[in-house]
Amino acid sequence: MKRFLVAAFAVVALAVLQAQSSGGRVDWDKLRPEVLQHYRSLVQLDTTSGHETRAVEYLKKVLEGEGIPTQTFALNPARANLVARLKGNGSKRPLLILAHTDVVGVSREKWPVDPFGAVMKDGYVWGRGSKDDKPVLTANLIAMLMLKRLGIQLDRDVIFLAESGEEADLEGVGINYMVREHFAEIDAEFAMTEGGGARIDGGRVTRVSIGTAEKLPARVRLVAHGTAGHGSVPRLDNALMHLGAAVDKVGRWETQMRLNDTTRAYFEKMAAISPPERASMYKALLDPTTATDAQKLLRERSPGEYSMLRTSVVPTILKAGVGANVIPSEAEATLDIRALPDENIDAFYAEMAKVIADPAVAIERLPQTRPPSPASKLGTEMYRAMERVAGTLYPGATVIPSMSTGASDQAQLRAKGIQSYGIGPASTESDEINYPAHGDVERLAESSLYPFVQYVWNVVVEVAGHK
Ligand SMILES: [Zn+2]
Repeated sequence: MKRFLVAAFAVVALAVLQAQSSGGRVDWDKLRPEVLQHYRSLVQLDTTSGHETRAVEYLKKVLEGEGIPTQTFALNPARANLVARLKGNGSKRPLLILAHTDVVGVSREKWPVDPFGAVMKDGYVWGRGSKDDKPVLTANLIAMLMLKRLGIQLDRDVIFLAESGEEADLEGVGINYMVREHFAEIDAEFAMTEGGGARIDGGRVTRVSIGTAEKLPARVRLVAHGTAGHGSVPRLDNALMHLGAAVDKVGRWETQMRLNDTTRAYFEKMAAISPPERASMYKALLDPTTATDAQKLLRERSPGEYSMLRTSVVPTILKAGVGANVIPSEAEATLDIRALPDENIDAFYAEMAKVIADPAVAIERLPQTRPPSPASKLGTEMYRAMERVAGTLYPGATVIPSMSTGASDQAQLRAKGIQSYGIGPASTESDEINYPAHGDVERLAESSLYPFVQYVWNVVVEVAGHK
């Protein structure tokens, strides 16, 4: 009886294998409806910050329905995190695939369709989270399901993490909670999550970016002090004047340009694939004798890339004054400082004080929201696998490592020594501009979803599969 059952099970398993794979490969055409269904279901869940458990319930049901055990970890029951682990033979350390479940809020009047409808129109799936971050969540889910269904033998554990609170986490419910209280559940050699992407030009993917580093928010407040008094009496120690001068100086300050492995490779590769004029600008950056002029051009034409060159200082908030006839004794400005991963922050603030050169203006540090995180390496088994898979799935595309000028949950992972890499589905330039993550309206081309899911799958199998 038992033997018969085993045999019967083997036949069923074989049928599943044949249906979904040939030679260990997934039949992607067959899997498409299921990919789309999970993706749309996840977009349809309104998981704006504070409601992440909705996604956890969905994922738990799907994973456990296929015999993959899950664990939930919640500091706040409405904002749970979910972990699932497929065991490998332990010969290599785990691979963590993670995605955040929360989405930013919506202004419904800006949407041409229901923001939580996952409406399919013009070849796109429309909805909040359709880019950020439900494609990654879906791809990770599919990877787990297929590893289990196909019975893929693993050299390393594959850990799936659906985390809350990436967009807004004042309570520390997401990555901070997992790293602090449950790190053993997610500790890994490599991680893969949002933070990269791919560009479509002329109907094909021309470049794939792998996020390997990010800048560190290191914000400060400038506080100017002066003598309070009547608005009819001019005073040289007016706090507003001191603050205004300081803000102007730091806002124009050309901080030191410094390339790291990621940004050097980024500009080299961009020089190789860009049209002549742009290419010469990138090349000039790499040559110390021409870098100064090239930076000026970049500052005007491409502020995002300019920010990759240096620790940036951007004034974002001014506060001063209570009445038109009152000189306030204090005026303050907030500076959003984004430090290069290797920046010496103390030395940087000391240098900034010299640039301001005004004893009436004090620099006050604001609480740091992220830990300093070293860049992940370009030569690892994981990075090379991602490069190879990108080359196969998107033939002719250039793979480029990138450093984000923003901050992400990868910082907490990199700070713990995990080599973490950013991925993302492909978009056209116009979609990146008109329908960005966090934009008024978010959408993803359906045709970008499937290759992205395959990308994740292929990387997971290459990095974690038994060799
Ligand atoms: Zn995100």
